[in-house]
Amino acid sequence: MKCKELIEKLNNEKVLTKEEFTFLLSSYTKEDMDFAAKIAREICDSIYGKDIYLRGLIEVSSYCKNDCYYCGIRASNKNAQRYRLTNDEILECCEEGYALGFKTFVLQGGEDMHFTCDVVCDIVREIKKRYPECAVTLSLGEKPYEEYKAYKQAGADRYLLRHETASEKHYSLLHPEKMLLSERKRCLRDLKSLGFQTGAGMMVGAPYQTAENLAEDMLYLHDLKPQMVGIGPFIPHKDTPFRDMQRGSFELTVFLLSLVRIMLPDVLLPATTALGTIHPKGREIGVLAGANVIMPNLSPLSVRKKYMLYEGKICTGDESAQSVISVKEKMESIGYRVSFARGDYKGI
Ligand code: SAM
Repeated sequence: MKCKELIEKLNNEKVLTKEEFTFLLSSYTKEDMDFAAKIAREICDSIYGKDIYLRGLIEVSSYCKNDCYYCGIRASNKNAQRYRLTNDEILECCEEGYALGFKTFVLQGGEDMHFTCDVVCDIVREIKKRYPECAVTLSLGEKPYEEYKAYKQAGADRYLLRHETASEKHYSLLHPEKMLLSERKRCLRDLKSLGFQTGAGMMVGAPYQTAENLAEDMLYLHDLKPQMVGIGPFIPHKDTPFRDMQRGSFELTVFLLSLVRIMLPDVLLPATTALGTIHPKGREIGVLAGANVIMPNLSPLSVRKKYMLYEGKICTGDESAQSVISVKEKMESIGYRVSFARGDYKGI
């Protein structure tokens, strides 16, 4: 079967075999990309219209106990600049974001031992008390079931935890021995079972990744059916073991966005900051390929450059208000509009 027929098959049957995905991901042309993007965008428009949801990203800590080989804030990086926001600082970011119109706050950070279950629950409760109509998304890494349950009871609505790669072998090439894919998957299952709108996802072009690995990612996403999928290109960081590795392909990332939209029609799909970092029109092209979420940065300007997961990250110098204006203009330039609605998952 040709790539175009496989894309049609994916649209009709909502899944392909591993062999078919592998073939598609290693043989597609620019024409196939455009074909998939058109279908993906039509699907997204039919469910979410022309609205692109904005989420306010607050990077709460650059401390991390983990040592992922790809990440700029890994524990072993002695050059990383470490900071953590106080509860008051996080609340100030929410206040600024709320004044700008945001209805979702995403608290993301390294796995920082300071952020105990109680600390996280206190901050979630306070945000929900002050802004009851807003959604709180957490992205704080792997935790025991009971801790996720406490976050949920405190009022958290969503949780982002990329699975990074669905292949055991590939996972072990990206992480130290004590980090396990089985544990990452356990977390994702727990999060879904607790009723979080859950986000999984992977880095495209991560070192040693094959088309077969990406096919496994697609099948894992098909089985998990997460409400959100975060897909961005791998970008090397100079202070990591992967400093000399090639960055992920822009085209392949965009193509995967389309395939994920076609496979999981209702999914909330960000055009990521990493995509905007490797191409000046990255987020616009991502939206035109099926993405419907953008996450402008609400972190205090003083810490932006310290949350450096990879080189050249964009928007580290922009005021929050400026980022919103610029995203708004970018979306209008391609016939879309930013939406400050909560933007919950519309599937079942
Ligand atoms: N600690 C939380 C976790 O593990 O999910 C959230 C923070 S973690 C830094 C957020 C995401 O950044 C990771 O899931 C990973 O996919 C992405 N990331 C880290 N290093 C990256 C790199 N060099 N290039 C692209 N994305 C990267």
